[in-house]
Amino acid sequence: MQNFYYSVALPTPLRQLFTYHSSTKIAPGSRVAVSFNRRNLVGFIIKSCPKPNFKTIEIKEILDKEPTFDNESFQTLIWIANYYHHSIGEVFNNFLPPKLRKINFVLEKIANSETNTQVIKGSKTYDLTPDQKNVISQIQQSKGFDPTILHGVTSSGKTEVYLQLTEKFLKQDTSIMILVPEISLTPQIYERFRSRFKGNIGLYHSKRTDKERFECWQDCKSGNTRILIGTRSSLFLPLQKLGLIILDEEHDPSFKQHEGVRFSSKNVALKIAQDRDIPIVLSSATPSLQALELVDSKNYKFLSMPTRINGDLPPSFILHDTRTATKKAGIDISLFPIIQKTIDRGKKVLIFLNQRGFAPLLSCNACSWSALCKNCSVKLVFHKEDNILLCHKCQKKYEVPKKCPQCASGKFHYYGVGTEQIESELKNEFKETPLIRFDLDTTKKKGSLEDVLKKISDSNSAILVGTQMIAKGHDFSEVELGIILNCDQGLISHEPNAIEKLSQLLIQVIGRVGRSGTSKVIIQTDYPDDKNLNALKEGNYLRFSKYLLGEYKRLKLPPYVSIALIRTKSKDLNASMSFLRDIRSSVEASTNAHCIGPLPAPLNKIKNLYRNYLLIKDKDLIETHKTISKINAAIGKTIEDKKIQWSIDLNPSDYS
Ligand SMILES: [Zn+2]
Ligand SMILES: [Zn+2]
Repeated sequence: MQNFYYSVALPTPLRQLFTYHSSTKIAPGSRVAVSFNRRNLVGFIIKSCPKPNFKTIEIKEILDKEPTFDNESFQTLIWIANYYHHSIGEVFNNFLPPKLRKINFVLEKIANSETNTQVIKGSKTYDLTPDQKNVISQIQQSKGFDPTILHGVTSSGKTEVYLQLTEKFLKQDTSIMILVPEISLTPQIYERFRSRFKGNIGLYHSKRTDKERFECWQDCKSGNTRILIGTRSSLFLPLQKLGLIILDEEHDPSFKQHEGVRFSSKNVALKIAQDRDIPIVLSSATPSLQALELVDSKNYKFLSMPTRINGDLPPSFILHDTRTATKKAGIDISLFPIIQKTIDRGKKVLIFLNQRGFAPLLSCNACSWSALCKNCSVKLVFHKEDNILLCHKCQKKYEVPKKCPQCASGKFHYYGVGTEQIESELKNEFKETPLIRFDLDTTKKKGSLEDVLKKISDSNSAILVGTQMIAKGHDFSEVELGIILNCDQGLISHEPNAIEKLSQLLIQVIGRVGRSGTSKVIIQTDYPDDKNLNALKEGNYLRFSKYLLGEYKRLKLPPYVSIALIRTKSKDLNASMSFLRDIRSSVEASTNAHCIGPLPAPLNKIKNLYRNYLLIKDKDLIETHKTISKINAAIGKTIEDKKIQWSIDLNPSDYS
């Protein structure tokens, strides 16, 4: 019997292909079941290859009646593996619905099922502003791959633009993909689309069940779904005749995957659009410096909707000096009367603090002991409601000690403030007013996010307390006062992109506030003279980002240089440091790249694994790829140390 030989990608960290044979012809992109090191794995056929001069194992089973990935997706996935220097098998696996990652799941051929997705007659549409009209007509005129950076301030009517663009692209018989950075943003946008379009609208993210995710995948493949809303894992759902990609809140770091394949959804979406020769819209009230730089260097189209739909002015922006303030739950008590006045007018107050729990540090009054996680190099956060100490990195729970484990004293002090503490203190202070907390703890149960959002929209005067979740893309009405509590952390951060992230966060919080002349945002700070804060005070993000781009160019920071972080995780600190030192030596011997490190990562230990990195700076991405190829070759020559997990993070958004 004649055998065919195949290079197969397997979901293991090994960056190589494996040869198997079969008596059947199998198309690239198909899933197969194979045996590997006495385990059964789902592999992906990459290409056929000649008979090798070693003994091969037979493919156990062909799991697809037709390839899971169409040719275009297949090519783009191979590109991702090369671009991010990651194992091809893991890349393929990453973009499959969980069911299709299972070895016992055989995929039958999916029949075409054309549905009639169209506007619901009589559904509410809005009169467009001249800016909205301009944006829609310009994007509609896009021919082929034509990226648009869309700057639209909060309440400038971006969702209406997406809805009308979707209608126009549906009429051209194409499908539309809308990506948002976080699951918490999906309900609102999904409802807007559901109230406008009939037919199946796909919703895909990791909180949906395996069954729901597979059905969504199937509906895309059959043509039943023409509109898809999802997070970064939906990038390779097999939408038929994809005609437009919209990436909402493009600046958001959540578009970058921080574990496994460290890909940027934005770069991958741009690549998909380029490969399929279709338009793509990257939209934000605070476009990333990377996006703005692409407008300069690659001539990407830049469109702006700089005003709010109803002509409201943005709120005024006040830097509030807290160096000598008396605080309660982190808030300067002199601000309490302003909170009261806002409530009395029947309006809402939004308090932003990027720290959940009650207090981020418990320590002994008598000695130097403080509560740390046994597995991670972080302090434990006290959660009062559950009366536990919780590690926010490994999620390990600890009992609150009765006595100090070091000196047996029974007196402890809680330092710092979390959203839970603000909630409980302000409940006492403003007894009549509903207090709504919006953070991971109040939204993690199924359905609780929707409940919190409904509670906010149903109440008139209220105090909303939230972490970064509250700053993202939600549309709250009647918020007239915003108070930002811990922006100083962003000012003193070590991350090269800290000021960019801080400016985006502040402008996003401002976006949640203000519909009237009296609305304002107060930023508590111990650095009221800070140059950046004062420049941001004008509330003009584009002007600020231009200034920041100038600074980053001068300081040779991204996006004007390219950075690769080689990260390691290991139980053996010395082994990983020497592994990184070897990489540094080989980089310095063979390239012009500039290295910093190896250094301990700021979060030096998580789940008992030490984390270190080596930062490699090159003048551009092309040079970085050359440098990484050399590193790969050098590592290939040394015996790979199984004790060290290592990964490459290309242009990281997070340096923790
Ligand atoms: Zn003690
Ligand atoms: Zn921990």
